[in-house]
Amino acid sequence: MGDAARFADVELLLRRAGPLAHAAFEAGPENGAFIASQCRVLVIGAGGLGCELLKDLALSGFARIDIVDMDVIDVSNLNRQFLFRAHDVGRSKAEVAAAFVRARVPRCNVTAHNADITQLPADFYRQFNLVVSGLDSIDARRWLNAFLFSLLERDATSGEIDPASIIPLVDGGTEGFLGQARVIIPGFLACFECTLDLFPPQRNFPLCTIANTPRLPEHCIEYAHVVLWPDVRHGERFDADDPAHVQWVFERALARATQYGIQNVTLRLTQGVVKNVIPAVASTNAVIAAVCAHECLKLASYLAPSMNNYMMYNGEAGVYSYTYQNQRRPDCAVCGVPVPRRLGISAGSTLNELLDLIAADAELRARSPSLRWISGHALYYSAPPALHVQTSANAERSLIDLFRAWHMQNGLAPDARDAANESENGPVVDAQRSPPVMKLSVADPHLPHVREVHVELL
Ligand SMILES: [Zn+2]
Repeated sequence: MGDAARFADVELLLRRAGPLAHAAFEAGPENGAFIASQCRVLVIGAGGLGCELLKDLALSGFARIDIVDMDVIDVSNLNRQFLFRAHDVGRSKAEVAAAFVRARVPRCNVTAHNADITQLPADFYRQFNLVVSGLDSIDARRWLNAFLFSLLERDATSGEIDPASIIPLVDGGTEGFLGQARVIIPGFLACFECTLDLFPPQRNFPLCTIANTPRLPEHCIEYAHVVLWPDVRHGERFDADDPAHVQWVFERALARATQYGIQNVTLRLTQGVVKNVIPAVASTNAVIAAVCAHECLKLASYLAPSMNNYMMYNGEAGVYSYTYQNQRRPDCAVCGVPVPRRLGISAGSTLNELLDLIAADAELRARSPSLRWISGHALYYSAPPALHVQTSANAERSLIDLFRAWHMQNGLAPDARDAANESENGPVVDAQRSPPVMKLSVADPHLPHVREVHVELL
């Protein structure tokens, strides 16, 4: 099909004024020309959503598209990631998707980046007018949101955001029959972090718990999967789609569960844990990607006002969707002025249990955090290995024990900041001043920001 025929309908929209257009919309051929030759769009992810996004953007007239993905194609992707064929298994998702769209829509110039999004430099991101993401990882979406926010430049005197530094983010996400799409204008609309509590906490388990203090059936399964498999089957790649591999993990997990008196390790649960199953429904991806591509077209042309700012889709029982405005959080860790997160835990709990609490906390969700006292002294490092080894013994110690030891070593007021808060941080030897509070800073390699956390020892 020739370009004139292929883009005739989009051109019709872009060349005619209408009652639904944005106030800034100016009808004319310049709109189509801008979208085809100047507007640069970055697509993050070439999976289920990413394939749909790339196709929708190319057929909406965007012709300068870059796509980033670090994954290779697996045979289980083929039922919905329709830009891939059986002979592509093992190849880069970004490269195969880009080549497919270039072949099908010749005017569309798609550039592939087989890369980790966190490793690309700021100048790479600054090239783009729009970023649209189809990621399934909450961590990656948090990182991207915070990173685009960090690119904002402000006027030195007025503090106002330079409009040229704003890169809008259109974010799509799906899980089974549920989906959501949103428009984030960094600095103006609610960001991803503002509404983190929309997502149920991810189930991930600190390695220390898995290795040393299993309490849940999932801990036993992860132990067999993450620790035993590489130890015993060294060199052999674990394949979650191979029934013999899953059975092996199940049997080892069951033995470990018996050893620790833990119930309910089943083959079915094992399959779920090792595959980290997020059910994928092709039609949900198609709906959400279409909404996202539509928002890109509106942002690039002012054809219509953008979504304000969050749309949810539910195809579980009938088809339901609803669009509403999420509010910014004044204390958002990314776009607001963060306040310390307060947690409460029994004083006799171990540091491992605090790590579990931090991983499960709706606001923190730090999977492999490193903890420092707010004064800067090390408490626990998840990485690098040398620091982890030095601090890993702390994981088994009780919090009250760590708290006392820190006071013994440092005196009651090791720095001005703690001295100013001494009444709250209180000498633990004084039973009247309770509960004691551990003031910590929590950093996680998956997350772009350090959070201050106050842990009340109850
Ligand atoms: Zn925010």
